[in-house]
Amino acid sequence: MKCRSCKTYTLFKACPACGKETSIPGPVKYSTTDRFQAFRIKELEDENIG
Ligand SMILES: [Zn+2]
Repeated sequence: MKCRSCKTYTLFKACPACGKETSIPGPVKYSTTDRFQAFRIKELEDENIG
């Protein structure tokens, strides 16, 4: 998920940074790898924080 307001990537439907509703960036071609994709994004977020 991606916030169109502040370009923040998140796993949540609402942006943790500004509270705006997030959307999926681009067409979603995957389905079974969705959970894995989300996990990788989480890693990136953790990397940004820490
Ligand atoms: Zn935002």
